[in-house]
Amino acid sequence: MANKGQIGVTTENIFPVIKQFLYSDHEIFLRELVANAVDATQKMKALAASGDYQQELGELKVRIELDEKAQTLRIVDEGIGMTEEEVDKYINQIAFSSAGEFLEKYKDQIGNIIGHFGLGFYSAFMVSKKVTIETLSWKEGAKAVKWSCDGSPAYEMEEIDKADRGTVITLYLDDDSKEYGEKSRIEALLNKYCKFMPVPIVFGKEQEWKDGKYVDTDKDKIINAVEPLWTKAPSELKEEDYLNFYRNLFPMNEEPLFYIHLNVDYPFNLTGILYFPKLKDRVAVERNKISLYCNQMFVTDHVDNIVPDFMTLLHGVIDSPDIPLNVSRSYLQSDASVKKISTYITKKVADRLESIFKEERAQLEAKWDNLKLFIEYGMLSDEKFCERALKFALLKNTDGKYFSLDEYKEAVKDQQTDKDKKLVYLYATKAEEQYAYIQAAKDKGYDVLLLDCELDSHYVNLLEQKLTDTRFARVDSDTVENLIPKEDKVKLEMKEDERYDLENLFKAVLPTGNDYYVTGENLGADTAPILITQNEFMRRYREMSALGGGMNFYGSMPESYNITVNMENPLVAQIMQAKQADVAPQAELPAEAPESASEEEKSKAREAREAVRKAHRADVESFAAGNELLHQIVDLALLANGMLKGKALADFIARSYSILK
Ligand code: ADP
Repeated sequence: MANKGQIGVTTENIFPVIKQFLYSDHEIFLRELVANAVDATQKMKALAASGDYQQELGELKVRIELDEKAQTLRIVDEGIGMTEEEVDKYINQIAFSSAGEFLEKYKDQIGNIIGHFGLGFYSAFMVSKKVTIETLSWKEGAKAVKWSCDGSPAYEMEEIDKADRGTVITLYLDDDSKEYGEKSRIEALLNKYCKFMPVPIVFGKEQEWKDGKYVDTDKDKIINAVEPLWTKAPSELKEEDYLNFYRNLFPMNEEPLFYIHLNVDYPFNLTGILYFPKLKDRVAVERNKISLYCNQMFVTDHVDNIVPDFMTLLHGVIDSPDIPLNVSRSYLQSDASVKKISTYITKKVADRLESIFKEERAQLEAKWDNLKLFIEYGMLSDEKFCERALKFALLKNTDGKYFSLDEYKEAVKDQQTDKDKKLVYLYATKAEEQYAYIQAAKDKGYDVLLLDCELDSHYVNLLEQKLTDTRFARVDSDTVENLIPKEDKVKLEMKEDERYDLENLFKAVLPTGNDYYVTGENLGADTAPILITQNEFMRRYREMSALGGGMNFYGSMPESYNITVNMENPLVAQIMQAKQADVAPQAELPAEAPESASEEEKSKAREAREAVRKAHRADVESFAAGNELLHQIVDLALLANGMLKGKALADFIARSYSILK
C-alpha cells in the first residue's frame, strides 16, 4: 500500500516559488543532486574506514544516466541510502518554515544558498514535472523505498525491491526544460560544476574511432578529476604539474608567469592555486578567472567580494568550506572570516613575489613587463599590499636595466639630487618620441626610467607619497638644466616690453588652440633655439583625468606648453636683430587716469593704452608672419616634439625645399 502525505512546508506550494525565483539559475539542480550523491558516497567510505560497515563497498561511483528519448535524467549512487524514516525526515519535512519569504529575500544569491538550507534536493523540481527517489539504506535489515512527487505538495511513498545499496534519483524533465534532456548540455554542466568532485562521476562511455566514426567502448567515461592539483601537497608537485593544470583550466590562455599554491588549515581552511597571467593592458584584462570551490564543489567564479579587487586579475582556484555562502554578497566583504581569508591571500601573494624577488631575480626581471600592471594596480588599490610591494617592485630604465626602489635610489642619488636635497627621478613614457630629451638627460649624466604602463601617472603619484624626498619629472617637462636644479638660477633680466614682444613674436607662429608660456633664457650658443616642454603636474593631471581619475577640470583645459627661447642661440639673436630693425619700438603709452577720475574717464584711458599696445602687437605679428627663419626654427621645434602635423607640416616641407634652392 502506498503511503500518501503532505510535504511539510507552511507555504501553500513551494514549487512555484522555487521555479519562479530560481529561474536564472535552473542549471544548479544538477550540482545539488550530484553533491548529495557524492556526500552519501563519502559517508559510506567513512563508515567503511571506521569499521562500522564491513561488507563489500563496491565501486562507489556516481552515475549520471540520461535517456534522451524518455526525457529522464537519473543520478545513481552507491552511498549510504535512506530508510523510510530518513526520507520522511530529510525530504518530507523541509527544514525551515518560511521558504517563500526566505527565497524572496535572497533571490539574488539563491544559487549559492540553495544547497546550504536543505533545499538542494528540491531544486530538482525547477526542471522536472515529477521526481522519484528509490533508495536502500546501508543499515542492516533496511527496506528499500520509493518516494515520488509530481510537483504538488503531495507525495507518495512505497516499499520496493531494490538490491543495491544507495539512491537513484529520477527526474522526469519538464516540457520547458528540454535542454537538460540533451547530452551536450548535461556534459557542459558536469564540466562546469562537477569537474573536481571527490568521487568518480560517470557519464556515458569512452569513445573510440572505428570504421570512420566514433563509437562507444564499454569503458565508463569519468568526467572529473577526483584529486585536483590543489588538494595535493606542494612538495609532491613539479612546475610542470602546475602548468598542466593551468592549461587544463584555461586551454585558450597564454602560459602564466608564476603560480602560488595556497594551503592552510588553521585558523580557517583554504586551499587553492593562483596563477599570475601575462597582463599587457587593462582593456584586455580578463577578470573572474578565479573559481571558488567548496570541498571540490564548484560554487562561483565571482570572487570579487572575497579577494581584494586587484587579486581578481589572477587566475585559478580557491577551495574553502569556510567562506559563508548563505549571506548576501555585500555582507560577504564585512564577514570576519572572509576578511581573514582575504588578508591571508594578499599576504601569500606578497610573500611569493618577495621570494621570487630574492631567489629568482632573473625570472622576475624577464617577466616584469607582463607582471607590472598587476603589481602597480595592487599597490594603488591595497595599502597592505603596497607596503610589501615597495620591497620587490622593480623600476626599468630606458636602457632596459631593472632596479628595486632601494637600488635605484643608490644608483642615482649622487647625480640627481637637486638644490633642495630632493631626489629627482627622470622618466620617459615613450622612448621613441622622447628620444631627444632622453639623450639630453643621459648626456648630462642622468638616468631615465621608462614608465610606459597606462597606470603609471597614478603610480608616479603613489611613489612620490611613499618615497621620502623624491619627485618624478618627465624628461620633457623642462629644459635639461632645469629638470634637476642644482643651484638658484639667476633669471634672465628682460624688460617688460621686451618680454611682451618675445611672447607675441612666437605666439604669432605657433599652432593655435593651445596655451603657451614663452620665456627667454640663456642656454648657451650650442643649445637649440627653442625648447618645448610641458609642465609635469599639468600633464599628469590631464593624463589621470583621461584615465578616469575624476579631475575633469584639467581634462577640459587646453594643452599648455612652456616655450623656452634660448636667447644665446645665434639664430634667435639674428631674428631679434631683424625685429629690432624692422619693427618700430612701441609708441609711448598715454598716461593712466588719475585716482580721482570718473569710471568713464578711467575706462577711456585704459582703452587708449590698450590701443597702443595692440598697434604694436600687430607690427610684431606682421614681422613674424614674414620671417622665414622664425617659422623655420619654430617648426623644427614642433617637429622634434611630434607636434607638426597636417598643413603646417606640408608648409614646412615646402619652405625647407625653397630655402635649399
Ligand atoms: P542538504 O544536502 O543541503 O542537506 P538536500 O535537500 O539536498 O539538503 O538533502 C536533504 C537530506 O536528504 C540530505 O542532508 C541527506 O541526508 C538526504 N539525501 C539527499 N540526497 C541523498 C542521497 N543521494 N543519498 C542519501 N541521502 C540523501
